[in-house]
Amino acid sequence: MNYTSTRNDTLSVSSSFAIANGISAEGGLFIPTEIPKVNSDFIASLVPLSYIERARKVLSLYLTDFGKTEIDADTEGAYATGFTNEKVAPLVNIHDNVNVLELWHGPTCAFKDMALQLLPYLLTGSAKRISEGRETVILVATSGDTGKAALEGFRDVEGTRILVFYPSDGVSAVQKLQMTTQAGKNVGVCAIKGNFDDAQTGVKTIFTDDEVKKQLHDNNMTFSSANSINWGRLVPQIVYYFSAYADMIASGQIVNGEKINFTVPTGNFGNILAAFYAMEMGLPVNKLICASNANNVLTEFIETGRYNRLRTFHTTVSPSMDILVSSNLERLLYHLSENGSAEINELFTALKENGEYTVPEKMLSKIQAVFAGGCCDDTDTKATIGETFKEYNYLSDPHTAVAINVYNSYREKTGDTTPTVIVSTASPYKFSPAVLEGLGEALSADEFDMMERLEKISGVKAPSQLAGLKGTAPRFTEICEKTDMRGVVYGMLGL
Ligand SMILES: *Cc1c(COP(=O)(O)O)cnc(C)c1O
Repeated sequence: MNYTSTRNDTLSVSSSFAIANGISAEGGLFIPTEIPKVNSDFIASLVPLSYIERARKVLSLYLTDFGKTEIDADTEGAYATGFTNEKVAPLVNIHDNVNVLELWHGPTCAFKDMALQLLPYLLTGSAKRISEGRETVILVATSGDTGKAALEGFRDVEGTRILVFYPSDGVSAVQKLQMTTQAGKNVGVCAIKGNFDDAQTGVKTIFTDDEVKKQLHDNNMTFSSANSINWGRLVPQIVYYFSAYADMIASGQIVNGEKINFTVPTGNFGNILAAFYAMEMGLPVNKLICASNANNVLTEFIETGRYNRLRTFHTTVSPSMDILVSSNLERLLYHLSENGSAEINELFTALKENGEYTVPEKMLSKIQAVFAGGCCDDTDTKATIGETFKEYNYLSDPHTAVAINVYNSYREKTGDTTPTVIVSTASPYKFSPAVLEGLGEALSADEFDMMERLEKISGVKAPSQLAGLKGTAPRFTEICEKTDMRGVVYGMLGL
């Protein structure tokens, strides 16, 4: 199987090349030239298997230049011990034919672990084949969850260094503590004075800075990305859509071949795009429902075909979805385009120059045939946390609550009662203040006091990865100006 770039589809590279490089030289994203197809026998064969065995079957269709023993070892390393739930990604029925797919039982309690526990294995294997033994330097800009999950995934991984920048005032108290207390000898963390977009722009600038690249090259190092623009982040996420479907069959909720809906709380469009790949491979899907918070650029796009990033940035209680430019949408548009990268270059030049683009009618109808969109603000998010707990005794984090709210509206508006999986992306204990507010409780000054109160109310224990942060001293306290990020990188790498 070969990969090409959304902005230059004359290119043909291996999966190792795509993963080792992260992004294509001209700025495009790597995509498979052909999406592998599976039949109903393949899906039936997944039903009795463990998550690791399901992962091996799906991944080997895409990573054709990885050996079987390599994929076996990589998936074992990623999923055998790091997850506190033996099913890795358990499916929980909350009422009727509505289920929640919990993707947050990994080391950092957010769905990013599903991919970032595997990525270091895929990346070091790829780098061995591609990068001539150079040390891989992972630079990350994070709005909270990616940073910690990447640090945990790459901690002490031979041949890699990882540096994370986060906005000093743009992450939750627990997210900040998770990052500043990170252990490992190849890790670095720095806050920047600015918002997430400033951090992201700074990192992108360093990535493409010729002087920095030369410095790295001279010191036998090379950059790669752990953000969801990297194909190695996306491909592990395709697995859990198959896994959820297999569990729906196992529980007798559906028969093999029956279509289901997925509702996905969306920011950078990586998670829901993985669902699209699963569907294109042959997973029976009726609708993919794209749920956004007050940053509702995608809701408008799915309804009208117009993508307009020139709008107010809202800071919300679901911070991992506070985003105005959803990078992975580019991959979807490529797959639905009539003439490939020529069309994508046109759209993204318009986005760069005018802050917006509008897709052709034909593409819009293809999008609407698969996707529905919806959004909800913080007030409704918190109300949904309260209602879902009261009615179904299910405690959800704010990101998951956005998805539940959007799904409820969708079901009411359309009358579509297809069996549904709502994707749950974080542990509620990662966002205790918003969850307590949703339950109608007062806040307290101390984060761990709030976790304990939440435990009492819900009867669900806080994950030890979070509760255990209490009293740990921060190791990384540096805060830099957004103009000084290059200096920080040099400092961390000892250049
Ligand atoms: C990253 C994240 C999202 C958004 O996922 P995308 O793949 O960027 O769309 C949603 N919820 C949580 C908790 C996240 O960490």
